[in-house]
Amino acid sequence: MLYEIDFLPVGDNEKSGDAISLRYSSDGGATWTIGVIDGGTQQSGEALCEHIPHYYGSDSVDFVICTHPDQDHASGLSCVLDNLDVSQVLMHRPWDHVDEIYHLVTDGRVSKDSLRRRLIEGHPYAYAVEEKAVAQGIPIIEPFTYAYHGIPNLTIVAPTRDYYLSCLVNFRSITEVTEDEQRSFFNALRRAATTVSNWIAETWDDEKLVDPAEDAVSSENNSGVVSLFTFGEKKALLAADVGVSGLREAINNAQALGIALNDFSFFQPPHHGSKRNVGPAVLDSLLGTKRPQGSSSEYTALISASKEGEPKHPSKRVVNALIRRGALVIATQGSAKNHFSSGMPGRGWQIAKPLPFYDNVEDD
Ligand SMILES: [Zn+2]
Repeated sequence: MLYEIDFLPVGDNEKSGDAISLRYSSDGGATWTIGVIDGGTQQSGEALCEHIPHYYGSDSVDFVICTHPDQDHASGLSCVLDNLDVSQVLMHRPWDHVDEIYHLVTDGRVSKDSLRRRLIEGHPYAYAVEEKAVAQGIPIIEPFTYAYHGIPNLTIVAPTRDYYLSCLVNFRSITEVTEDEQRSFFNALRRAATTVSNWIAETWDDEKLVDPAEDAVSSENNSGVVSLFTFGEKKALLAADVGVSGLREAINNAQALGIALNDFSFFQPPHHGSKRNVGPAVLDSLLGTKRPQGSSSEYTALISASKEGEPKHPSKRVVNALIRRGALVIATQGSAKNHFSSGMPGRGWQIAKPLPFYDNVEDD
């Protein structure tokens, strides 16, 4: 099969996002399936609208996936819907699930209508995508594992509908109804404590990456879509911004579906390479355990990280952990990166420089 996956750069400063397009063909390039996974910011959305006609030679997009409603993923998709001819949108519609979660989240003092409004107002960029799709008559399907979507070569490995609802009850738009001030104070403190000032030595055999706490990642992030594309023998897994919980969900679902792990050709590490989203245990399950030092790489790990995102995006501990587990690690960091099968027409682009194994990593 022919395929190529493009990660467009998102963010000039330290804020990252995802803007991904791909196309694939099972008939030698006679017909293509074209998809977009997240649109990043307004600016990267505009870039996608130029990139697709220019490199894929088409204004038609077979499917758009909005992995989760955060601005850095959903914002640029409005532009894609405005400018390209989209056939299908895959996105969760949190505001449509109020009936299912209402009894779990309130004591009755808040009405269903007001919860629905909170979910809409809390996710304006995703809601705008829904509004545009509805206005244009584009079908919207909620991407749950086991839900039918009809897109060739794509398996939604996470979330199941049940797992999604278990995340939704903890969305900020819901919990801020009841959250006490003390907890918001600690959350603010935790967010502030992300700048790195110290570095520590790390070696191949002395892994500094640790399994993050269960609540290290927001429920919005854990609810995100994990997509698996199977191109003949090759498998590409894209993990949006999910954390350990969302990755475990993907691993369990993959096993239930009879999908082998540890043999991917392409992997998008979650959340722009943050160390809050992965730990040694989950990476061992997903990618296999540590290879002997000096082993050649077996697959590409492509991280969507902003130009000035380091050391948070990507974390050097995460980069090292991926290299230990057989990855050739590439990061966008300000320029578009293209991963392609053999047989794809050349673009005259330079071969991307992989990230090295770092001898020093961020200290906590
Ligand atoms: Zn993100």
